[in-house]
Amino acid sequence: MGASGGIVIGRAFVLDRQYIQVSRKPIADDAVQAESKRLHDGVAQSIDQLKRLKSQSANAGSAASEELGFLLDAYVHMLTESRLVRGAEELIVSRKLNAVHAVSEVIDVIANQFSGIDDRYIAARASDIREVGLRLMRCLIGETDRAADMAPTGAILIAEDVSPADMARFEPGQLTAFVTALGGAEGHTAIMARSLGIPAVLGAADIIRGVSGGDQIIVDGGRGEVILAPTDADIAHYTQRREDWLAARNKLASLRDVPSATRDGVDIDLHANIELPIELSAALENGASGIGLLRSEFMFMNKDYLPDEDEQYAELADIVKRMDGKPVTIRTLDIGGEKLAVALQADMGTGPNPALGLRGVRLSLRKPELLEAQFGAILRASLHGQVRVLIPMVVSVHEMTRARHIYEAVAKRLRKQGHAIPDDLPPLGAMIEIPAAAIAVDTLARECDFFAIGTNDLTQYTLAIDRTDDQVAGLFDPLHPSVLRLIRDVIKLSNERGIPVSVCGEMAGDPRYIPLFIGFGLRNLSMSPVNLLLVKQRLRRLDTRNSKHQADRVMEQWDQARIAMMLDDFNDLA
Ligand code: PEP
Ligand code: MG
Repeated sequence: MGASGGIVIGRAFVLDRQYIQVSRKPIADDAVQAESKRLHDGVAQSIDQLKRLKSQSANAGSAASEELGFLLDAYVHMLTESRLVRGAEELIVSRKLNAVHAVSEVIDVIANQFSGIDDRYIAARASDIREVGLRLMRCLIGETDRAADMAPTGAILIAEDVSPADMARFEPGQLTAFVTALGGAEGHTAIMARSLGIPAVLGAADIIRGVSGGDQIIVDGGRGEVILAPTDADIAHYTQRREDWLAARNKLASLRDVPSATRDGVDIDLHANIELPIELSAALENGASGIGLLRSEFMFMNKDYLPDEDEQYAELADIVKRMDGKPVTIRTLDIGGEKLAVALQADMGTGPNPALGLRGVRLSLRKPELLEAQFGAILRASLHGQVRVLIPMVVSVHEMTRARHIYEAVAKRLRKQGHAIPDDLPPLGAMIEIPAAAIAVDTLARECDFFAIGTNDLTQYTLAIDRTDDQVAGLFDPLHPSVLRLIRDVIKLSNERGIPVSVCGEMAGDPRYIPLFIGFGLRNLSMSPVNLLLVKQRLRRLDTRNSKHQADRVMEQWDQARIAMMLDDFNDLA
């Protein structure tokens, strides 16, 4: 699955999965139960990963996949009511070891016993135990603590899976591309790859076994191709394609300072989505007129504690200052579902369906101290520029009422503490990314100063297709008439009521969809920085009336394939 476009020819770096740092810090006497639960949550997560790997490799249908299937079954077995798990549990209770430490000790004991047996087959099982144990430890650490700093500059990363938190560990320029066995095209790893401009192919089931570190390979992230052991002819062909790709990219750069307006002179705001502060320079270089979505999760990644108001303020103030008066829309924490944070793992629970569970604003309202710290940091940072505050995963107006209540209380507290904050508090808005919110958007209008339509989750929840699941990735289609109708209707109501509205899901960064959005009456789009100029190029050729006409025609269609074709054929002849 091509997740992020671009062509790279380079050397593979296969993620060293053996490297894990084990903290030996003991747990408090009253934490035994919580630590045991953590162990069992980690076991459940490991089993889930193994099952996904199994079905992924079965889908690949290669000769080896049956054999791999048996091995993965055996791994699942090792985690079910096994000595590994029981042993670790005992160590948590008897010696107050933390779960990771306990697992590492048990693995050593079991693996040593195996390797001492004078039988080559059984001795080899020691490595299986270690493999399973390491997987469990990685799950327990949460954000897999991998040796990102070992990858040489310019490497093509090959890994089973790469989380957004993993990506955050790499230096800019360290990775030129990556290929993973797992992952869906609209998950956050894919989004991050696109926004960092790193070509990526996800869902390549057999990749780990097919590549060794140092192998020369070619990645075509646009087409979703990985070429192993390329011939001279392959290299010549892809070198040419890479040059064409780079030339097209450079040509776009000339659009940086031209106005972002349609041919008939209607200004369109093009904002950037930011996941990590390092993307800020790309946003500015590509002419973003603001940040339409600052995902605040980065402040919680790779930390085993919750950052307090001061720490968050320092990070946010820096970004707001660097935007130099341009609008910055800061979204409160959207942890949960596919997005994880170690320090909140216990609060998020392990419901049977995390995407439908305690996430986004639900978690923030359950744990109001989270919102209090975030609002405090945002309000203080707002003094340095033009800030808006965005609440994720809103379903009902009560959530906004409660959030606003906390927002105003925090403002009052800050004033009392002598912090300078603006007299008029920054606008407070809601993400429209759940069908319920889109359908009843008029009810939310009462409490919201602006709306931001999140097409990633809106598509996921409308179509009941997990955005991160490689097995259904082919079905994830935001052109389904239901999704388009929701987007159209939210824009219409917002425009009628004079409520500012933007689209900030991945659709906003795809030039194909731009005529449709403009035709719906949208005038503000927020996207990965790398797409800003492509979108600007597209919209400068558009005419708003013609777009409206085309959008109306698209909305009469009932077949997604036909809609896609119409968008591809869309020639803006005014
Ligand atoms: C969305 O859901 O479309 C969105 C913009 O938010 P995120 O991708 O961070 O869930
Ligand atoms: Mg979302």
